[in-house]
Amino acid sequence: MKTFEDLNLSNQLIYGIQDLGFNSPTPIQEQSFSVIMSGKDMVGIAQTGTGKTLAYTLPILQQLKFSKQVNPRILILVPTRELVVQVVENIEAFAKYTSTRVCGIYGGANINTQRQAVAQGCDILVATPGRLYDLCLDHTVKLRDVKKLVIDEVDVMLDLGFRFQITNILELVPRKRQNIMFSATMTEDVAKLIEDFFISPIKVAIAVSGAPLANIEQTAYKVENFYTKVNLLLFLVKEKTIYNKVLIFVSNKRSADRLFVAMQEVFGSEIGVIHSNKTQNYRLRSIEQFDEGKNRILISTDIMARGIDLDMVSHVINFDTPTYPENYIHRIGRTGRAERKGKSILLFTEREEEFKIAIEELMDYKIPLKAFPKEVKISEELVPEERPISVEPNFSRRTSEQDDGGGAFHEKLEKNKKVNLGGSYKRTIAKKYKKPLTRGDKNMTKRFKKRK
Ligand code: ADP
Ligand code: MG
Repeated sequence: MKTFEDLNLSNQLIYGIQDLGFNSPTPIQEQSFSVIMSGKDMVGIAQTGTGKTLAYTLPILQQLKFSKQVNPRILILVPTRELVVQVVENIEAFAKYTSTRVCGIYGGANINTQRQAVAQGCDILVATPGRLYDLCLDHTVKLRDVKKLVIDEVDVMLDLGFRFQITNILELVPRKRQNIMFSATMTEDVAKLIEDFFISPIKVAIAVSGAPLANIEQTAYKVENFYTKVNLLLFLVKEKTIYNKVLIFVSNKRSADRLFVAMQEVFGSEIGVIHSNKTQNYRLRSIEQFDEGKNRILISTDIMARGIDLDMVSHVINFDTPTYPENYIHRIGRTGRAERKGKSILLFTEREEEFKIAIEELMDYKIPLKAFPKEVKISEELVPEERPISVEPNFSRRTSEQDDGGGAFHEKLEKNKKVNLGGSYKRTIAKKYKKPLTRGDKNMTKRFKKRK
């Protein structure tokens, strides 16, 4: 295994890394380094938590020469405001002993403060696409000196419908530049973007997308409905010493709020919630309080928690079952990080069982099922989505309630897009696994027996 010294880094960078206590580069860091140094376009695929930020930051910092110029030479695009803050903090830590100037800009915060910050001059600009474009239009930010463009979490970016914004920005940066892209998954959208804008990129892929995570102990419970899930959750997480840092995932903000209200009655200030309708400050505060251990439980939608680095999460609870199996991997990847053991719990209803099967197919692992505890009350109360629907037989939970991740632009357009996405899950799965799986699949047990 290589060490950081093997990469011939400058002493300043070595000192910065030593301060952080990192011993050796992760596989994605090691393999990306020479590719990025070579100046070629690169696409890096590695799961959440594999150290992608440092993978692009290290070679960039190593090559960045001291300059007083105002215009940024490195542009890093990320999908959410939280990620801007996190990436800026990361780079500042790595570059602690260098004179690198880093700036972060994102929507939902005072634009004038950001204008002033950018006007001071910076070497590396980290931005969400929308706010960046606004600041380009009024000439606060000039992208003509950008030599390297990094698009981080590109799969999330495209999922949120940012392709249009990305394309706009790509038109403002010089043609002659290095493109670097990082993604946790390779999707059709990602492939299309690469094809359109990258020049024979080198692909660095670490581990198969969806490989089961060895450090995580996974379990699942079959549960009647939403409020029975709430009852089960309340029963489980009351064991404070065991469930000491719990991240709960839900697929949409309505469920997030509903769950928050139900849990707050019991746990009060121990619990926080983040989704794209919460203000920027609220979200940052919630994440901080959770990360520092002031809140024991955090409820989050998928997009909000993507890429945010949280320390020592004891349990990831999938309050609902992700319709895209990859999202399950992303979710549980928030625990068991950095060689520590983590636990994940999946709650699924009968209608979600097909999604659970898709997840198990992807991981090639059957999640051990736990017996529903006798002490937990089964609720008769149904949320609106669970009540029988007569008008819309093909009702898909995915269509109307997806979290939009706080992207503040073109609300209508984005919503329209989401409606079109609805129902495509079955097609995707059909394509991927050849045969569509349904919850009525009687051969389910047979298939699993075959596997192990
Ligand atoms: P990703 O973007 O792939 O999800 P991050 O860049 O956010 O991953 O890094 C995940 C965590 O791993 C962070 O806490 C980071 O500080 C830590 N980390 C990154 N590189 C190393 C390394 N070489 N050794 C130890 N820890 C590392
Ligand atoms: Mg990342």
